[in-house]
Amino acid sequence: MRDYKLGVIGDPIDHSLSPKIHNLFAKETEITIDYQPYHVLPENLDSFIKDFFINGGDGLNVTLPHKINCLRSARDLSPLVKLIGAANTLTYSRSSEEIVAESTDGEGLLGDLIDKFKLFSKNETNVLILGAGGAALSIIPSIEYASLGDIILDNRSQEKIQSLINRFDNDDKSNYGFPSKKISHRLYNIDNFDRDIDLVINATSAGFSGPFKWHRELNVNSKTAFYDLSYSSSEEKTPFLEWASQYSDNYYDGFGMLINQAALSFTLWTGSSPDTEITKADLFND
Ligand code: NDP
Repeated sequence: MRDYKLGVIGDPIDHSLSPKIHNLFAKETEITIDYQPYHVLPENLDSFIKDFFINGGDGLNVTLPHKINCLRSARDLSPLVKLIGAANTLTYSRSSEEIVAESTDGEGLLGDLIDKFKLFSKNETNVLILGAGGAALSIIPSIEYASLGDIILDNRSQEKIQSLINRFDNDDKSNYGFPSKKISHRLYNIDNFDRDIDLVINATSAGFSGPFKWHRELNVNSKTAFYDLSYSSSEEKTPFLEWASQYSDNYYDGFGMLINQAALSFTLWTGSSPDTEITKADLFND
């Protein structure tokens, strides 16, 4: 079996957990990888990506601030990437000799939501997404695809909500790149939604300094589930989950999503699906 030349690019990059995660995947699947973190400045992005793949690279993860601009270096964009305009995984296709861009965040989140909450399989689930930035954008299609309920959007800057609704709330979902399925529910601005919310997803960076606060009361109750895309390095709650715990004891942080989206990248590169049972202790305790 050949060795895979892989890495993650970002600015900054020191904080990235991807090298550790992928090395755990490699050990478990007995695949040999050389996975390095690369600090790439915006002005060097295109030349770095092209050089990496010309020099035998197999795959790159892409983190902030390059998720949008990395598309300029890729020739083949997946339908989902075309829709959301961002990618977190670049793969070199040896057959077409092209760089292929994919986004695994949405599917990674979905896998964790199904695993943790057993949602979506049978019940109508109304999902409220807080935030209208890059993370919200990248998860909406997957939630739309999986949920039988409605999707409700709220954001600190209200003017950004309508543009997200316009982008996704249409009858033609053929451009999502998912297996064919009729998606008939709606996206709502929270101002126009007065029913109970089953799941609240925090896709904001609110709470990064100080406690989490939200600018309005939400229609939640003790049965509502809460999920934070951010995660802590321990069993300690994130500020959003600290806030959520006043309503419900059904909440999780985004550590599972982090592992899942990495596993999906690993599979794209190597064809092998690693075990995603990595714990926080595996990554943070040493
Ligand atoms: P962006 O900068 O694109 O968007 C930030 C969002 O947070 C905006 O909606 C912004 O609102 C909102 N926001 C920021 N500060 C506040 C505040 N004080 N109060 C209320 N709202 C606020 O960031 P991303 O979308 O890329 O990332 C959002 C979060 O998702 C980050 O915490 C990131 O770490 C996490 N994430 C986790 C992943 C995982 O694998 N677990 C993967 C991807 C992201 P406004 O529009 O008003 O500025």
